Amino acid sequence: MPVPHHPAGSGAIAVRVEQLTRVYGGDGQPVTALGGVDAAFARGTFTAVMGPSGSGKSTLLQSAAGLDRPTSGRVWVGATELSQLSETALTKLRRTEIGFVFQAFNLIGALTVEENILLPLRLSKVRPDRRWIAEVVDRVGLGERLKHRPAALSGGQQQRVAIARALAMRPKVIFCDEPTGALDTQTAAEVLALLRAVVTDQGQTVIMVTHDPVAASYADRVMVLADGRIVRDMPQLGANRIAEELASLGRARAVRS
Ligand code: ADP
Ligand code: MG
Repeated sequence: MPVPHHPAGSGAIAVRVEQLTRVYGGDGQPVTALGGVDAAFARGTFTAVMGPSGSGKSTLLQSAAGLDRPTSGRVWVGATELSQLSETALTKLRRTEIGFVFQAFNLIGALTVEENILLPLRLSKVRPDRRWIAEVVDRVGLGERLKHRPAALSGGQQQRVAIARALAMRPKVIFCDEPTGALDTQTAAEVLALLRAVVTDQGQTVIMVTHDPVAASYADRVMVLADGRIVRDMPQLGANRIAEELASLGRARAVRS
């Protein structure tokens, strides 16, 4: 696999977070979900974000995607710093520059596959680039299913529709929160191979939360969170090594607590 080249300059970075902090809860005991996270994600790379339940993975994704406003710190998507944006501008940026793929697919049941894929364009009043959409549909292998509704599809097919929807706008980055969490092993492998191809062949940037070392082994880089901080940031060295790292981190945490 070619090592991505990271020239200096902001154009090479798809997403950057600086001293990102998120504290939940005004009344009662506040919870620090993120405690000052610094990270940059180069364009054309695939990062797996791992860590125990409650370590801040979803909060990191939501803040970086502009779905949630951090308590403090800054987020850049490309050259745009999100805290500078009005709600309207943030909504527009979310629709045009960011794709999101959730564990639960989040497709609209009343729309066909094709309508679901084109929805972000419609909402942003962007005319579909038919060649690109055809390429996306071809890539996710849904050509025969365009007129079907999501309920007629398997889980893996529904997740492929969600990935096509995320790609339709050619976003700067695609965030995936446990995209294979609801899928069987074989279907998960197909979805992961698709995400890998989207990065390798189309130069997309993917940031994916996963619990599964095998899923993480499709990425270029593995970042591990614990208690709202990055505790490991390493190149992907195969599912076995990832599982060993997680186990050793778990043992170190058990000794400390
Ligand atoms: P992960 O995705 O790694 O499981 P989350 O980012 O969902 O972790 O959560 C990090 C911490 O923040 C947890 O302690 C969680 O309980 C807390 N948290 C997340 N969302 C909220 C919320 N909306 N209100 C209060 N606490 C929250
Ligand atoms: Mg989560």
